Amino acid sequence: MRLADRLDRVGTSQTQQVLVAVQRLRREGAHVIDLGAGEPDFPTPDHIKSAAAAAIQDDFTKYTAGAGIIELREAIARHYADRYGVAYPTTGIVVTAGGKQALYNTAIALFGPGDEVITHVPGWPSIVEQVHLSGAEPVVVRTSAEDGFALLAKPILEAVTPRTRGVVLTSPGNPTGAIMSEPELRRLAQGLADREIWVVLDLCYEQLIYDDTPHNLPGVLWEYLGDRTVLVGTVSKSYAMTGWRCGWLLAPAAVAAGCNAVQSHSTSHATSITQHAALAALTGPQVCVRAMRDEYRTRRDALFSWLDADPRFQVTRPDGAFYLFPDVSALLSPDGPRTSADLVQVLLMDAHVAVTPGEAFDAPGFIRLSYAAPMDQLREAWMRIQRVLG
Ligand code: PMP
Repeated sequence: MRLADRLDRVGTSQTQQVLVAVQRLRREGAHVIDLGAGEPDFPTPDHIKSAAAAAIQDDFTKYTAGAGIIELREAIARHYADRYGVAYPTTGIVVTAGGKQALYNTAIALFGPGDEVITHVPGWPSIVEQVHLSGAEPVVVRTSAEDGFALLAKPILEAVTPRTRGVVLTSPGNPTGAIMSEPELRRLAQGLADREIWVVLDLCYEQLIYDDTPHNLPGVLWEYLGDRTVLVGTVSKSYAMTGWRCGWLLAPAAVAAGCNAVQSHSTSHATSITQHAALAALTGPQVCVRAMRDEYRTRRDALFSWLDADPRFQVTRPDGAFYLFPDVSALLSPDGPRTSADLVQVLLMDAHVAVTPGEAFDAPGFIRLSYAAPMDQLREAWMRIQRVLG
């Protein structure tokens, strides 16, 4: 059977493999605690669900403009203006079926064969695979656990070659939770000022930052590289809306038009009902976001303190997102478990706790624990892990 050559370049999802194993164990009656999930455990807030129900009742069930309903694009523009002081016209905004599609549209619109695109690992695997699908070559810069996976300008600038067409940054990052500092981004932007290089900034976890760390990265890019910047956002994480599939991109109008063209020939637009739900999310009361953030902070601090007290886990305290990403190499040996993927199997089969192997993020020797799970489950999971590891 002959499939398109481009598929040879695309890897399969390792997070999916853990999910399949969890489902099998549960079918067999095991009580598995899932700390593998990359999504909020909270329900979507009621006022958002009501807006979607009203959209159905009011017959907002037909095609919309490809770039999304104008009210939602205006609300997105306001969100970034209020939060970051950047002024995007609605012609520079495209609503998409999730942040993932916004990143995909951008990759297809901006990159192609012969281009290099720099990104960072440990990182969310879809970035690299989307670059592969665009025909371009990903170039990965490795951040290090010693300094909390800090995203620094210097190694990124050192990776630039005459073929570099883009840099894709995620802040806060998945799986590290690390954020890029404003001074480092300024250094990077200044270093790229004379080059024809796009900067794509994935801000999907922007509202899940737990301390008062300045994070006006859009403002920095707007000042130095406004005409070469693409910002990507989503309702998935901040509003507990992963299944609704709604995200967006903000870009120079010509880029937004290109991304809209890509989308118009594939998915057309985000679901009409979801767009009304997302509008309610952005324009409605924001106390739900604060409440969820406060709860994630409590969980982060608890889980971090447990792992930090155990010398077998080398862990740094993340600034955002909802993951801890400890180095577990002290638990690995030739007699087994030999790799972090093996250790994940042991935790799953013997402790019935699901976590994600670092291998999934191009970082063997680490595991990712998601704290998007209730406190009592986190406590129980940690007790089980301790019991199994002895
Ligand atoms: N960026 C990062 C770093 C992510 O972890 C995710 C989701 N796991 C996304 C983007 C996309 O999320 P969504 O498509 O649900 O908006």
